[in-house]
Order: sequence, then structure tokens, then C-alpha cells
Amino acid sequence: MNAPLQSVDSRRAGALLEVRNLQKFYGAARTWFSRRQYPVQAVDDVSFDVARGETLSLVGESGCGKTTTAKSVLRLIEPTAGSVRLDGEEVTGLGREEMRQRRRDLQIIFQDPYASLNPRMTAGDIVAEPMRNFSLDGLTSEKARSERVKWLFSKVGLRAEAMKKYPYEFSGGQRQRLGIARALALSPKLIVCDEPVSALDVSVQAQVINLLMDLQAEFGVAYLFVAHDLAVVRHISHRVAVMYLGKIVEIADRDTLFSSPRHPYTEILLSAVPAPTPGKRAERRVMSGDPPSPANPPTGCRFHPRCPLAAPVCRQVSPSLTPRSDAVGAKTAHFVACHVR
Ligand code: SF4
Repeated sequence: MNAPLQSVDSRRAGALLEVRNLQKFYGAARTWFSRRQYPVQAVDDVSFDVARGETLSLVGESGCGKTTTAKSVLRLIEPTAGSVRLDGEEVTGLGREEMRQRRRDLQIIFQDPYASLNPRMTAGDIVAEPMRNFSLDGLTSEKARSERVKWLFSKVGLRAEAMKKYPYEFSGGQRQRLGIARALALSPKLIVCDEPVSALDVSVQAQVINLLMDLQAEFGVAYLFVAHDLAVVRHISHRVAVMYLGKIVEIADRDTLFSSPRHPYTEILLSAVPAPTPGKRAERRVMSGDPPSPANPPTGCRFHPRCPLAAPVCRQVSPSLTPRSDAVGAKTAHFVACHVR
């Protein structure tokens, strides 16, 4: 089992989002060499917190469970086990209507802005729809909603005239701005950003990331940010959690993680990131082998078949996510799941 509940709790008292021992297993997958069927352990025993107004990024290779974790928090995917508390209230046990009401505080920005927008609705209607669904105080009339949509458009850098346009009339970056306006419509406390810029041109990515940061500074919204682009993660995050094969292997504040990674997997992952200072780039290290199947993960530390530091204990005992006290200058606790580091 990963971090004991109390150790994660105590380090971020008063957190907005508290995720404890989250697990998502999918059915069973037959392996090539065996008739036995194993459940796919997409997310296994994941615990973390997100503070108000904070950005916590989940990073890792494809298939590491970062998107499944984020969608389980929103219950777009039903978790197999574990606890998700928002503002102190458990959300995993809520019924359909209670959960619908709770979604006012929990919104999402999707990776593909085009696929996430109804092509038959105008941009203004897309942003107004959540307000209609929740009949917010002061927003019960069409006129009031239209005024708020206009205001939201200005906040995300869209012109008021665009309210009458349809999604196909927007560029990719504008469509993502529309998705952000829709996510903000109900003044949520937390937004899950699921690879929000990976489908955009590089030239537009920085604009959208800076917009998200400006909106966070203005409205105090927290982000659970899922991404594989570590340069983007470095720019937007306050803290970063690194996932490998369904588990968190390291969590630290952004500067500590990028300057002093402890987990061997994090070190290899970060060696591919361009250094901000020319000529200071660390030697690029290549990961050996392919990630094991989440339907039949290795015993002990899940990273041991690919780890250059693996010791005999690593094959037997799964390392817990525990705090490291030697992180000089770290702004928040640095947690690592490794027997050696
Ligand atoms: Fe490598 Fe062992 Fe640490 Fe796992 S516990 S990352 S195998 S050294």
C-alpha cells in the first residue's frame, strides 16, 4: 500500500481535494502465455491532495494511469475503491443527482476541444448550457446568462460576436478557449485539465497555458493537470506527481522535482526535457525495455525490471511513498517510493 492516510493528510491540512488509496481495476485480460485472466490495474492505491488555487500535475508515460486517475476523481470513470473528498465531502458514495450537483465545483477541460463541443450549438449556447442546467442564483433569466457568457468570453480572449458562431468556425486554440469558458461558467473550485494543449499547434499552446495561469490567479481555481509534455508541466505546475504503471512514485514541488528528482524513473523521464539554460542539458538517459502490462505488473517495485538501481529487495517488496527530509529548500514535502533513493 502506498502512503498511509495520515501522512498525506497531515502534510496538506485543509486541502481542497483529498484522494486516498484510489483504485481502478478493469475486468480481466487474458495473457499470451496463460489462460488465467487478470484484472487490468490501471490505478492502484493512489493518494494525493490538491490545495485551493494550486496546480498539481500528473505525469508519466502513456498508460501510466494519469488520465484514469483524473477521470476517477470526477467519477466520469467509477473508481473500484478508495476515497475522493472535495472540500471535506466524500464524493465517491454520492448518488446520481447528488453527484450532478457536486459537478458544479468539479469541471473538466478535454484534450480535443472539437470533439468536446456540440457542433449543433452556438458558442454562446455551449457556455450558457451549464448555467441553464443548474439555475444559479442571479442567472435564471436568458438576459443574465447572456451577460455572463459575454463576460466569460472576454475573460478567455474571445470577442462577444463569437457567441453566435458554431464550433467549426473557430480555430483549434479558439475552441479550447471556448472549452475553458464553459468549464468556468459555474465558478468551479477545481478543474481537471486532461492534456488541454496537446492537440494544439505549438505556437498556440503557450497562449492557452498562460491563459489558464491568468485565470487561476484571478479566480483562485485549482487545476489537476494531466500532461505528458514536461516543458508545459514545468511552466504551469506548483507541484508534480509522477506516475508509473498505476502508482505514484514521486511527488514534490515543481522546482524540487525538476532540479533534484529522487526516483530513478523520474530521473530518466526528466533527462529528456530541454534545459532552460543552453549548454546545461543533462545527459539524456534512455529507458530500457517496454512498460510491463498493468494486467500482470511485476512483484515488488513495479519499476524493477527497467530500473538501473534495482536491488534484490526491489523484486520482493513494494516501496511505500514516504517523505524525504533532505530536500533542502523544498516548499512542500518531497515523497518518493523507492528502497534505494
Ligand atoms: Fe529501482 Fe528499487 Fe527504487 Fe524500484 S525500489 S525504483 S527498483 S531502486
